[in-house]
Amino acid sequence: MVSNVVFGRGSFNQLADIIQPKRLNTKAPFIFFVDDVFKGNAWLTSRIPLSYQDKIVFVSTKEEPKTEQIDQYVEDIILNFKERPSGIIGIGGGCLLDVAKAVAIMLNNDGESKDYQGWDLVKNEAVYHVGIPTISGTGAEVSRTTILTGPERKLGINSDYTPFDQVILDPELTKDVPTDQWFYTGMDCYVHCIESLKGTYLNAFSQSYGEKALELCKDIFLGDHLTEEEAQDQLMMASWHGGMSIAYSQVGVAHAMSYGLGYLLGIKHGIGNCIVFDHLEDYYPEGVAMFKQMKIKHNITLPQGICKDLSDKDFDIMINVALSLEPLWENAIGKNWKDKITHETLKALYQKM
Ligand code: NAD
Ligand code: ZN
Repeated sequence: MVSNVVFGRGSFNQLADIIQPKRLNTKAPFIFFVDDVFKGNAWLTSRIPLSYQDKIVFVSTKEEPKTEQIDQYVEDIILNFKERPSGIIGIGGGCLLDVAKAVAIMLNNDGESKDYQGWDLVKNEAVYHVGIPTISGTGAEVSRTTILTGPERKLGINSDYTPFDQVILDPELTKDVPTDQWFYTGMDCYVHCIESLKGTYLNAFSQSYGEKALELCKDIFLGDHLTEEEAQDQLMMASWHGGMSIAYSQVGVAHAMSYGLGYLLGIKHGIGNCIVFDHLEDYYPEGVAMFKQMKIKHNITLPQGICKDLSDKDFDIMINVALSLEPLWENAIGKNWKDKITHETLKALYQKM
Protein backbone atom coordinates (compact mmCIF):
# COMPACT_ATOMS: atom_id res chain seq x y z
CA MET A 1 0.00 0.00 0.00
CA VAL A 2 0.93 3.67 -0.34
CA SER A 3 2.38 4.62 3.02
CA ASN A 4 1.65 8.37 3.05
CA VAL A 5 -1.08 10.40 1.41
CA VAL A 6 -2.35 13.95 1.60
CA PHE A 7 -5.62 15.08 0.06
CA GLY A 8 -7.01 18.52 -0.59
CA ARG A 9 -7.33 21.36 -3.06
CA GLY A 10 -4.01 23.21 -3.02
CA SER A 11 -2.13 20.39 -1.28
CA PHE A 12 0.37 20.44 -4.16
CA ASN A 13 1.87 23.45 -2.35
CA GLN A 14 3.06 21.09 0.39
CA LEU A 15 5.42 19.27 -1.97
CA ALA A 16 8.55 21.14 -0.81
CA ASP A 17 7.84 20.44 2.87
CA ILE A 18 7.08 16.80 2.15
CA ILE A 19 10.19 15.94 0.16
CA GLN A 20 12.74 18.17 1.88
CA PRO A 21 13.40 15.75 4.78
CA LYS A 22 13.99 12.99 2.21
CA ARG A 23 16.94 14.73 0.56
CA LEU A 24 19.97 12.49 1.04
CA ASN A 25 22.53 15.24 0.32
CA THR A 26 23.03 18.16 -2.05
CA LYS A 27 24.42 15.93 -4.82
CA ALA A 28 21.50 13.49 -4.71
CA PRO A 29 18.80 15.24 -6.74
CA PHE A 30 15.07 14.98 -6.87
CA ILE A 31 14.02 14.19 -10.44
CA PHE A 32 10.55 15.37 -11.42
CA PHE A 33 8.94 13.55 -14.34
CA VAL A 34 6.20 15.88 -15.57
CA ASP A 35 3.62 15.43 -18.35
CA ASP A 36 4.70 17.70 -21.20
CA VAL A 37 1.16 19.07 -21.38
CA PHE A 38 2.40 21.28 -18.49
CA LYS A 39 5.42 22.65 -20.35
CA GLY A 40 5.10 26.43 -20.18
CA ASN A 41 2.30 26.18 -17.61
CA ALA A 42 3.65 28.45 -14.88
CA TRP A 43 0.64 27.81 -12.62
CA LEU A 44 1.94 24.28 -12.11
CA THR A 45 5.65 24.32 -12.89
CA SER A 46 6.49 27.39 -10.80
CA ARG A 47 5.37 25.41 -7.77
CA ILE A 48 7.78 22.54 -8.38
CA PRO A 49 10.45 23.09 -5.71
CA LEU A 50 13.88 22.86 -7.39
CA SER A 51 17.13 23.12 -5.41
CA TYR A 52 20.75 22.09 -5.94
CA GLN A 53 20.84 19.70 -8.90
CA ASP A 54 17.13 18.84 -9.01
CA LYS A 55 15.77 18.39 -12.49
CA ILE A 56 12.49 18.40 -14.37
CA VAL A 57 12.11 15.89 -17.20
CA PHE A 58 9.10 16.55 -19.42
CA VAL A 59 7.57 13.38 -20.84
CA SER A 60 5.26 13.08 -23.83
CA THR A 61 2.18 10.91 -23.34
CA LYS A 62 1.54 10.43 -27.03
CA GLU A 63 2.49 6.83 -26.47
CA GLU A 64 2.21 4.82 -23.27
CA PRO A 65 5.45 4.08 -21.38
CA LYS A 66 7.82 1.59 -22.92
CA THR A 67 10.48 -0.53 -21.23
CA GLU A 68 13.29 0.90 -23.39
CA GLN A 69 12.15 4.45 -22.54
CA ILE A 70 12.45 3.63 -18.83
CA ASP A 71 15.90 2.09 -19.34
CA GLN A 72 17.00 5.23 -21.17
CA TYR A 73 15.81 7.54 -18.35
CA VAL A 74 17.63 5.42 -15.80
CA GLU A 75 20.83 5.44 -17.84
CA ASP A 76 20.61 9.23 -18.27
CA ILE A 77 20.23 9.71 -14.52
CA ILE A 78 23.13 7.42 -13.71
CA LEU A 79 25.39 9.11 -16.30
CA ASN A 80 24.45 12.69 -15.41
CA PHE A 81 24.52 12.65 -11.63
CA LYS A 82 27.27 11.66 -9.25
CA GLU A 83 24.86 10.18 -6.78
CA ARG A 84 21.69 8.17 -6.93
CA PRO A 85 18.62 10.45 -6.68
CA SER A 86 17.02 11.32 -3.36
CA GLY A 87 13.66 10.77 -4.96
CA ILE A 88 11.61 10.43 -8.12
CA ILE A 89 8.41 12.44 -8.43
CA GLY A 90 5.79 11.73 -11.11
CA ILE A 91 3.33 14.50 -12.01
CA GLY A 92 0.64 13.65 -14.55
CA GLY A 93 -1.76 10.92 -15.57
CA GLY A 94 -1.35 7.16 -15.49
CA CYS A 95 1.55 7.35 -17.94
CA LEU A 96 3.62 9.69 -15.77
CA LEU A 97 2.80 7.88 -12.56
CA ASP A 98 3.94 4.63 -14.17
CA VAL A 99 7.14 6.23 -15.50
CA ALA A 100 8.01 7.48 -12.00
CA LYS A 101 7.36 4.12 -10.38
CA ALA A 102 9.34 2.21 -13.00
CA VAL A 103 12.35 4.56 -12.93
CA ALA A 104 12.41 4.44 -9.12
CA ILE A 105 12.49 0.63 -9.23
CA MET A 106 15.07 0.36 -12.00
CA LEU A 107 17.51 2.75 -10.31
CA ASN A 108 17.99 0.11 -7.62
CA ASN A 109 17.64 -3.07 -9.69
CA ASP A 110 20.13 -4.37 -12.26
CA GLY A 111 19.36 -5.23 -15.85
CA GLU A 112 16.54 -4.09 -18.09
CA SER A 113 13.01 -3.22 -17.10
CA LYS A 114 11.56 -5.84 -19.45
CA ASP A 115 13.07 -8.51 -17.20
CA TYR A 116 10.84 -7.36 -14.34
CA GLN A 117 7.49 -7.40 -16.17
CA GLY A 118 5.43 -9.92 -14.28
CA TRP A 119 4.66 -10.63 -10.65
CA ASP A 120 7.12 -10.18 -7.77
CA LEU A 121 10.33 -10.22 -9.78
CA VAL A 122 11.79 -7.04 -8.24
CA LYS A 123 14.55 -7.78 -5.74
CA ASN A 124 15.52 -4.45 -4.21
CA GLU A 125 13.49 -1.64 -2.73
CA ALA A 126 12.88 1.27 -5.11
CA VAL A 127 14.24 4.81 -4.68
CA TYR A 128 11.83 7.02 -2.67
CA HIS A 129 9.03 7.94 -5.06
CA VAL A 130 6.09 10.30 -5.00
CA GLY A 131 3.00 10.29 -7.22
CA ILE A 132 0.92 13.38 -8.02
CA PRO A 133 -2.01 12.65 -10.33
CA THR A 134 -3.30 15.43 -12.59
CA ILE A 135 -6.16 13.41 -14.11
CA SER A 136 -8.32 10.89 -12.27
CA GLY A 137 -9.34 7.36 -13.05
CA THR A 138 -6.52 4.88 -13.55
CA GLY A 139 -5.83 4.16 -9.90
CA ALA A 140 -2.13 4.13 -10.84
CA GLU A 141 -1.57 6.42 -7.86
CA VAL A 142 -2.48 3.60 -5.50
CA SER A 143 -1.70 0.36 -7.33
CA ARG A 144 1.21 -2.06 -6.95
CA THR A 145 1.93 -2.13 -10.66
CA THR A 146 3.53 0.01 -13.34
CA ILE A 147 2.27 -0.94 -16.78
CA LEU A 148 4.91 -0.99 -19.51
CA THR A 149 4.97 -2.03 -23.13
CA GLY A 150 8.00 -4.21 -23.71
CA PRO A 151 9.39 -6.01 -26.73
CA GLU A 152 7.20 -9.03 -26.08
CA ARG A 153 4.23 -7.85 -24.09
CA LYS A 154 2.33 -5.11 -22.39
CA LEU A 155 2.50 -6.11 -18.76
CA GLY A 156 3.06 -4.47 -15.41
CA ILE A 157 5.95 -4.66 -13.00
CA ASN A 158 3.83 -5.89 -10.09
CA SER A 159 5.66 -5.88 -6.77
CA ASP A 160 5.58 -4.74 -3.18
CA TYR A 161 8.24 -2.16 -4.09
CA THR A 162 6.10 -0.57 -6.83
CA PRO A 163 3.59 1.50 -4.78
CA PHE A 164 4.44 5.12 -4.10
CA ASP A 165 5.96 6.09 -0.75
CA GLN A 166 3.90 9.27 -0.89
CA VAL A 167 0.92 10.44 -2.91
CA ILE A 168 -0.40 14.00 -3.12
CA LEU A 169 -4.06 14.12 -4.16
CA ASP A 170 -4.85 17.68 -5.20
CA PRO A 171 -8.07 17.66 -7.26
CA GLU A 172 -7.40 21.22 -8.42
CA LEU A 173 -4.62 19.86 -10.64
CA THR A 174 -7.28 18.17 -12.81
CA LYS A 175 -9.17 21.36 -13.65
CA ASP A 176 -7.98 21.68 -17.26
CA VAL A 177 -8.44 18.09 -18.41
CA PRO A 178 -10.32 18.08 -21.75
CA THR A 179 -13.83 16.56 -21.54
CA ASP A 180 -13.27 13.54 -23.76
CA GLN A 181 -10.08 12.59 -21.91
CA TRP A 182 -11.85 13.18 -18.56
CA PHE A 183 -14.46 10.67 -19.71
CA TYR A 184 -12.03 8.02 -21.03
CA THR A 185 -9.78 8.06 -17.97
CA GLY A 186 -12.80 8.33 -15.65
CA MET A 187 -14.32 5.29 -17.36
CA ASP A 188 -11.14 3.36 -16.58
CA CYS A 189 -12.19 3.73 -12.96
CA TYR A 190 -15.79 2.77 -13.72
CA VAL A 191 -14.63 -0.34 -15.58
CA HIS A 192 -12.31 -1.26 -12.68
CA CYS A 193 -15.37 -1.21 -10.40
CA ILE A 194 -17.54 -3.35 -12.66
CA GLU A 195 -14.80 -5.87 -13.41
CA SER A 196 -13.90 -6.17 -9.75
CA LEU A 197 -17.47 -6.36 -8.43
CA LYS A 198 -18.56 -8.88 -11.08
CA GLY A 199 -15.42 -10.98 -10.84
CA THR A 200 -14.98 -14.38 -9.23
CA TYR A 201 -12.02 -13.08 -7.21
CA LEU A 202 -14.27 -10.68 -5.32
CA ASN A 203 -13.82 -10.55 -1.53
CA ALA A 204 -14.98 -8.23 1.24
CA PHE A 205 -11.89 -6.01 0.93
CA SER A 206 -12.35 -5.39 -2.81
CA GLN A 207 -16.09 -5.13 -2.55
CA SER A 208 -16.02 -2.38 0.06
CA TYR A 209 -13.78 -0.19 -2.09
CA GLY A 210 -15.45 -1.16 -5.38
CA GLU A 211 -18.95 -0.31 -4.17
CA LYS A 212 -17.84 3.10 -2.91
CA ALA A 213 -16.05 3.89 -6.16
CA LEU A 214 -19.06 2.80 -8.21
CA GLU A 215 -21.40 4.98 -6.16
CA LEU A 216 -19.09 7.98 -6.73
CA CYS A 217 -18.90 7.24 -10.48
CA LYS A 218 -22.70 7.12 -10.75
CA ASP A 219 -22.95 10.53 -9.05
CA ILE A 220 -20.22 12.04 -11.19
CA PHE A 221 -21.21 10.67 -14.59
CA LEU A 222 -25.00 10.40 -14.29
CA GLY A 223 -25.97 12.76 -11.45
CA ASP A 224 -26.79 16.45 -11.74
CA HIS A 225 -26.14 17.75 -8.26
CA LEU A 226 -22.35 18.12 -8.06
CA THR A 227 -20.47 21.35 -8.65
CA GLU A 228 -17.46 21.14 -10.94
CA GLU A 229 -15.12 21.21 -7.95
CA GLU A 230 -17.07 18.54 -6.09
CA ALA A 231 -16.97 16.35 -9.17
CA GLN A 232 -13.18 16.78 -9.40
CA ASP A 233 -12.76 15.91 -5.71
CA GLN A 234 -15.01 12.88 -5.96
CA LEU A 235 -13.48 11.48 -9.13
CA MET A 236 -10.07 11.64 -7.49
CA MET A 237 -11.41 9.57 -4.60
CA ALA A 238 -13.28 7.22 -6.95
CA SER A 239 -10.00 6.56 -8.77
CA TRP A 240 -8.31 5.78 -5.46
CA HIS A 241 -11.05 3.42 -4.31
CA GLY A 242 -11.31 1.74 -7.72
CA GLY A 243 -7.56 1.14 -7.60
CA MET A 244 -7.83 -0.26 -4.08
CA SER A 245 -10.63 -2.54 -5.22
CA ILE A 246 -8.60 -4.18 -7.98
CA ALA A 247 -5.48 -4.28 -5.83
CA TYR A 248 -7.05 -7.18 -3.95
CA SER A 249 -8.93 -8.74 -6.86
CA GLN A 250 -8.36 -8.36 -10.59
CA VAL A 251 -9.69 -6.67 -13.69
CA GLY A 252 -11.51 -8.59 -16.41
CA VAL A 253 -12.59 -8.90 -20.04
CA ALA A 254 -12.40 -5.21 -21.02
CA HIS A 255 -8.86 -4.85 -19.73
CA ALA A 256 -7.64 -8.08 -21.31
CA MET A 257 -8.97 -7.08 -24.73
CA SER A 258 -7.92 -3.45 -24.37
CA TYR A 259 -4.33 -4.62 -23.79
CA GLY A 260 -4.56 -6.37 -27.19
CA LEU A 261 -5.68 -3.11 -28.87
CA GLY A 262 -2.95 -1.22 -27.06
CA TYR A 263 -0.23 -3.65 -28.04
CA LEU A 264 -1.07 -3.91 -31.74
CA LEU A 265 -2.65 -0.54 -32.54
CA GLY A 266 -1.20 1.70 -29.83
CA ILE A 267 -4.72 2.55 -28.61
CA LYS A 268 -4.43 4.11 -25.17
CA HIS A 269 -5.75 2.46 -22.04
CA GLY A 270 -8.74 4.68 -21.23
CA ILE A 271 -10.24 4.95 -24.69
CA GLY A 272 -9.34 1.31 -25.41
CA ASN A 273 -11.34 0.16 -22.39
CA CYS A 274 -14.30 2.25 -23.58
CA ILE A 275 -14.13 0.81 -27.12
CA VAL A 276 -14.09 -2.75 -25.75
CA PHE A 277 -16.54 -2.28 -22.89
CA ASP A 278 -19.17 -0.90 -25.29
CA HIS A 279 -19.42 -4.44 -26.77
CA LEU A 280 -19.39 -6.49 -23.57
CA GLU A 281 -23.12 -6.69 -22.81
CA ASP A 282 -22.91 -10.52 -22.74
CA TYR A 283 -20.41 -10.33 -19.87
CA TYR A 284 -21.46 -7.23 -17.91
CA PRO A 285 -25.07 -6.47 -18.97
CA GLU A 286 -25.97 -3.87 -16.32
CA GLY A 287 -22.53 -2.27 -16.34
CA VAL A 288 -22.59 -1.85 -20.12
CA ALA A 289 -26.14 -0.44 -20.09
CA MET A 290 -25.09 2.20 -17.57
CA PHE A 291 -21.92 2.94 -19.57
CA LYS A 292 -24.06 3.65 -22.64
CA GLN A 293 -26.17 6.11 -20.62
CA MET A 294 -23.00 7.88 -19.47
CA LYS A 295 -21.74 8.05 -23.04
CA ILE A 296 -24.98 9.70 -24.20
CA LYS A 297 -25.10 12.13 -21.29
CA HIS A 298 -21.62 13.42 -22.08
CA ASN A 299 -21.94 13.33 -25.88
CA ILE A 300 -19.10 10.89 -26.33
CA THR A 301 -18.65 9.30 -29.75
CA LEU A 302 -16.27 6.36 -29.72
CA PRO A 303 -14.20 5.43 -32.77
CA GLN A 304 -15.80 2.70 -34.89
CA GLY A 305 -14.35 0.17 -37.32
CA ILE A 306 -10.86 0.23 -35.83
CA CYS A 307 -10.34 -3.47 -36.65
CA LYS A 308 -11.91 -3.49 -40.09
CA ASP A 309 -8.68 -3.48 -42.09
CA LEU A 310 -6.75 -5.91 -39.92
CA SER A 311 -5.29 -9.14 -41.28
CA ASP A 312 -5.76 -12.56 -39.71
CA LYS A 313 -2.22 -12.25 -38.41
CA ASP A 314 -3.08 -8.96 -36.71
CA PHE A 315 -6.09 -10.53 -35.03
CA ASP A 316 -3.90 -13.41 -33.86
CA ILE A 317 -1.47 -10.96 -32.24
CA MET A 318 -4.21 -9.11 -30.35
CA ILE A 319 -5.96 -12.30 -29.33
CA ASN A 320 -2.76 -13.87 -28.06
CA VAL A 321 -1.95 -10.80 -25.97
CA ALA A 322 -5.47 -10.82 -24.52
CA LEU A 323 -5.56 -14.57 -23.83
CA SER A 324 -2.14 -14.52 -22.18
CA LEU A 325 -3.61 -12.47 -19.32
CA GLU A 326 -4.92 -15.58 -17.60
CA PRO A 327 -5.70 -14.11 -14.15
CA LEU A 328 -7.99 -11.55 -15.80
CA TRP A 329 -10.00 -14.26 -17.55
CA GLU A 330 -10.09 -16.45 -14.49
CA ASN A 331 -11.45 -13.51 -12.50
CA ALA A 332 -14.01 -12.63 -15.16
CA ILE A 333 -15.29 -16.08 -16.10
CA GLY A 334 -14.07 -18.54 -13.47
CA LYS A 335 -11.57 -21.38 -13.29
CA ASN A 336 -13.01 -23.12 -16.37
CA TRP A 337 -12.72 -19.98 -18.52
CA LYS A 338 -10.87 -21.84 -21.27
CA ASP A 339 -14.04 -23.83 -22.01
CA LYS A 340 -15.94 -20.62 -22.65
CA ILE A 341 -13.43 -18.18 -24.12
CA THR A 342 -11.76 -19.23 -27.35
CA HIS A 343 -9.76 -17.61 -30.08
CA GLU A 344 -13.02 -17.37 -32.08
CA THR A 345 -14.94 -15.70 -29.25
CA LEU A 346 -12.38 -12.92 -29.11
CA LYS A 347 -12.10 -12.59 -32.87
CA ALA A 348 -15.87 -12.09 -33.17
CA LEU A 349 -15.73 -9.39 -30.49
CA TYR A 350 -12.73 -7.57 -32.00
CA GLN A 351 -14.45 -7.62 -35.40
CA LYS A 352 -17.32 -5.59 -33.93
CA MET A 353 -15.00 -2.80 -32.73
P1 NAD B 1 -2.35 9.72 -19.71
O1 NAD B 1 -1.39 9.67 -18.61
O2 NAD B 1 -1.86 9.47 -21.10
O3 NAD B 1 -3.12 11.11 -19.68
C1 NAD B 1 -4.18 11.30 -20.61
C2 NAD B 1 -4.07 12.61 -21.34
O4 NAD B 1 -4.47 13.64 -20.45
C3 NAD B 1 -2.68 12.96 -21.81
O5 NAD B 1 -2.77 13.53 -23.09
C4 NAD B 1 -2.21 14.00 -20.79
O6 NAD B 1 -1.28 14.88 -21.36
C5 NAD B 1 -3.50 14.68 -20.45
N1 NAD B 1 -3.54 15.31 -19.14
C6 NAD B 1 -3.21 14.78 -17.94
N2 NAD B 1 -3.44 15.65 -16.94
C7 NAD B 1 -3.92 16.77 -17.53
C8 NAD B 1 -4.35 18.03 -17.02
N3 NAD B 1 -4.40 18.29 -15.71
N4 NAD B 1 -4.79 18.96 -17.91
C9 NAD B 1 -4.81 18.69 -19.23
N5 NAD B 1 -4.43 17.51 -19.77
C10 NAD B 1 -3.99 16.56 -18.92
O7 NAD B 1 -3.58 8.71 -19.53
P2 NAD B 1 -4.30 8.06 -18.29
O8 NAD B 1 -5.61 7.62 -18.81
O9 NAD B 1 -4.25 8.89 -17.09
O10 NAD B 1 -3.39 6.80 -18.00
C11 NAD B 1 -3.24 5.76 -18.94
C12 NAD B 1 -1.96 5.06 -18.64
O11 NAD B 1 -2.03 4.56 -17.30
C13 NAD B 1 -1.68 3.89 -19.52
O12 NAD B 1 -0.31 3.85 -19.84
C14 NAD B 1 -2.08 2.70 -18.67
O13 NAD B 1 -1.39 1.53 -19.02
C15 NAD B 1 -1.71 3.18 -17.30
N6 NAD B 1 -2.47 2.58 -16.21
C16 NAD B 1 -1.77 2.20 -15.13
C17 NAD B 1 -2.40 1.62 -14.06
C18 NAD B 1 -1.61 1.20 -12.88
O14 NAD B 1 -2.17 0.67 -11.94
N7 NAD B 1 -0.32 1.39 -12.86
C19 NAD B 1 -3.79 1.44 -14.06
C20 NAD B 1 -4.48 1.86 -15.19
C21 NAD B 1 -3.82 2.44 -16.26
ZN1 ZN C 1 -7.52 0.24 -16.10
